[in-house]
Amino acid sequence: MKSLAEREMAVAAGEQAAVLREKALDLREVAANAEAELATLSQAQLREANERLLIAAVQAQTLAEAAESAAAQMSYMATHDALTGLPNRSLLTDRLGQAITLAQRHGKRVALMYLDLDHFKHTNDSLGHAVGDELLQATARRLQDSVRQSDTVCRQGGDEFLVLLTEVDAARDAALTAEKLVEALAEPYLVGGHRLHLSVSIGVSLYPDDGTDIEALVRNADTAMYHAKRNGRNNYQLFAPEMSVRALARQSVEVKLRQALDRDAFVLHYQPKVNLSTGAIVGAEALVRLQQSGHPLLYPAHFVAVAEDSGLILRLGRWVLSEACRQTAAWLHAGLDVGQVAVNVSAAEFHNKDFVSGVRDVLATTGLDPHYLEFELTESGLMHDTDRTTGTLRALRDLGVALAVDDFGTGFSSLSYLRRFPINTIKIDQSFVQDIGAASGEAILVNAIIAMGRSLKLRVVAEGIETRRQRDYLHAQECGEGQGYWYSRPVDAPAFAALLDTGRD
Ligand code: C2E
Ligand code: MG
Ligand code: MG
Repeated sequence: MKSLAEREMAVAAGEQAAVLREKALDLREVAANAEAELATLSQAQLREANERLLIAAVQAQTLAEAAESAAAQMSYMATHDALTGLPNRSLLTDRLGQAITLAQRHGKRVALMYLDLDHFKHTNDSLGHAVGDELLQATARRLQDSVRQSDTVCRQGGDEFLVLLTEVDAARDAALTAEKLVEALAEPYLVGGHRLHLSVSIGVSLYPDDGTDIEALVRNADTAMYHAKRNGRNNYQLFAPEMSVRALARQSVEVKLRQALDRDAFVLHYQPKVNLSTGAIVGAEALVRLQQSGHPLLYPAHFVAVAEDSGLILRLGRWVLSEACRQTAAWLHAGLDVGQVAVNVSAAEFHNKDFVSGVRDVLATTGLDPHYLEFELTESGLMHDTDRTTGTLRALRDLGVALAVDDFGTGFSSLSYLRRFPINTIKIDQSFVQDIGAASGEAILVNAIIAMGRSLKLRVVAEGIETRRQRDYLHAQECGEGQGYWYSRPVDAPAFAALLDTGRD
């Protein structure tokens, strides 16, 4: 997209060119008239007329040249991006049309790549727009240096670029170029005294395989780019038809989520956490569900990832926290001993700069004693930006809130963080618990995690206990607590209160 200023400049240059052209025409007319007068004039008059003629001719020439250069400038501005000097979307559209015609004639393919810089907004916000602009210019140069002369690199707008590769034989060729671009942008940048790292996510679509017009090719490259982002960024993905099916499904879930947030249609279910020796309920995990009128409940597997991608997780997480704290305070007020209630927190929520102050607000509003609250975070959520993570975890601990590592053992991270971070609990992922009672010796990881938890003086909770055998095994290994269908499925608040009540007798 061209900026308003660019468009205004282009219009002004166009107007100037038109005025100049008119002036040149007028002057030519004057010259012609003067020539006609020549025949009837005296010697002195002749000389004067001749001089006028000469001057008019020179002026006309100069003006014609100025008009030409203004017109050229105008057409350049209409087809290029002002910041990077790269072709813009309208020039790319022209070239794509030509490339398609050529590809048809020669039986070849055309590749269109959609590039989006990863976390560029963060750099722009923290280092300022001047640094951001320089980074975009440097990126543009690297992209141009990495493709052939006959290919087109275009700035689509913001931190997005499109690259058109002509005369491609097979998807593999496009993949190689995409890989080259990912590598080229991964080299550090030196901008304004900063050494900066950028990465890029790329989606690739091919003519005629993935689309025969520019709209379809751009849309499908964009969808593939989205998958590259989901795949951890800093990579490329070739478009595949099932991606657009998923893209549609994602859109409809996002619409549902927005409506549900506006209409307060979420509900929390609570799954008891149980002391494996005594069977007593020692706490609960709050799990969110979406209620849809006339339809069954929708479970987190269907909407949490979309909420995370769309940023709606911040609103959803805030609702979950408020509701869990409100409910827990109400239970305590009614004399029910709920123990600690755990709330799951996504990485995007946890790393949001307003997270800790939000928690403080909710605790103040609901009046809940922070010691009744625990957060469950996954290892991958914790491992991002570990300095900040430590700060946030300490702030939460200082508030009096407990912290658990969820799905422990599935994150492939270095374990040293267990000592560095102020963590209270590890939750053994249910996949390890399922191994108990399978082939002999399979539960070796469960034993190792329990032993490690014990030596680090952490509470160990086993997730997904479904059978008596699993419960007995965990108990024998001295795992302190557990949760799972064997004890109770997650249930709504009144049903959970009833479970607590039974436990009290
Ligand atoms: P999680 O935190 O690991 O939660 C445990 C999941 O295992 C829950 O699924 C629970 O219903 C299920 N589960 C419990 N016992 C058993 C069992 O014995 N067998 C089996 N097969 N499953 C069992 P659910 O409620 O569908 O939640 C799935 C995931 O969604 C959660 O995994 C959590 O990561 C996420 N989630 C749930 N609620 C929230 C929330 O409020 N916020 C965020 N950010 N994520 C949430
Ligand atoms: Mg959990
Ligand atoms: Mg879990």
